[in-house]
Amino acid sequence: MTTIMNGRLLAEEMQEKLRLKIAQLKEKQLVPGLVVLLVGDDLASQTYVRNKSITAEKLGINSQTIHFPSSITEAALLKEVNKYNHDDRYHGILVQLPLPGHIDEEKVLLAIDPKKDVDGFHPLNMGKLFLGKPETIPCTPYGIMKLLEAYQVKIAGKQAVVIGRSNIVGKPMAQLLLSENATVTIAHSNTHNLTALTSQADILISAVGRADFITRDMVKEQAAVVDVGINRDANGKLTGDVDFEQVAPVTSFITPVPKGVGPMTITMLMEQTVRACQKQEFDK
Ligand code: NAD
Repeated sequence: MTTIMNGRLLAEEMQEKLRLKIAQLKEKQLVPGLVVLLVGDDLASQTYVRNKSITAEKLGINSQTIHFPSSITEAALLKEVNKYNHDDRYHGILVQLPLPGHIDEEKVLLAIDPKKDVDGFHPLNMGKLFLGKPETIPCTPYGIMKLLEAYQVKIAGKQAVVIGRSNIVGKPMAQLLLSENATVTIAHSNTHNLTALTSQADILISAVGRADFITRDMVKEQAAVVDVGINRDANGKLTGDVDFEQVAPVTSFITPVPKGVGPMTITMLMEQTVRACQKQEFDK
């Protein structure tokens, strides 16, 4: 029997709890604030940012998007980040990636006050995660852990394979599974004989970005499969990395695309913004 892990449903439940928490904070005159810095005209980035701000406003977070032209200099963007580091109205700062080629992303992420780094990409927060003492966690892998927990997918002692080694998904995902005592393998574009690895996986996470990349023969019977990929087919329809129709029947748990990982990512951003607000305001 396959259970579909419904990220949209869990995200709605978690957002409702957040909405109530934010209402309680407002009674104490505290309003969580999130500022999003968007550079350039990348359409996908604009859509992501719009979805984040719609969700933030729905929950009662004071959300502001500042849109800069792609010609903004690195120095000017760093100045903006620094300005919001010192603006008490905003407890979270998010710089939407990717940035134009003339701007060093690492430098910009490093400039964000780690306390306000609600995306969890600052090297200090990454370091804490890898030392097993996480504070803010990259939102996509964090949301996946919440999904696995909500559906009571057993992790300790299991074989987990994460395909993809990016800083925002693959690496932190592997670390989070390791911290829950899975035996973790990270596969990537140079991995030989991927099927031999994935077919041993009790938990398989695919973060590649290629439609129908995961086929039936790559998946162990009764595995839990998480599809992180976001791809568009020839008709513009959203699909993940997994050939869902073929693969789903052999799994015990699987996430769909859409309504899987995506809604959880946004929800974890909201959760970390509210947490940042509480920490900054109550630590004053
Ligand atoms: P990325 O391009 O940085 O990483 C892709 C990874 O796939 C790389 O590490 C690469 O080594 C690996 N890869 C490529 N070809 C491979 C192959 N043949 N065999 C094994 N590994 C291979 O991308 P990313 O930022 O990590 O995102 C991955 C996917 O997840 C994308 O589709 C992205 O859109 C999606 N994504 C979704 C969410 C969400 O909230 N749902 C969030 C972030 C990213």
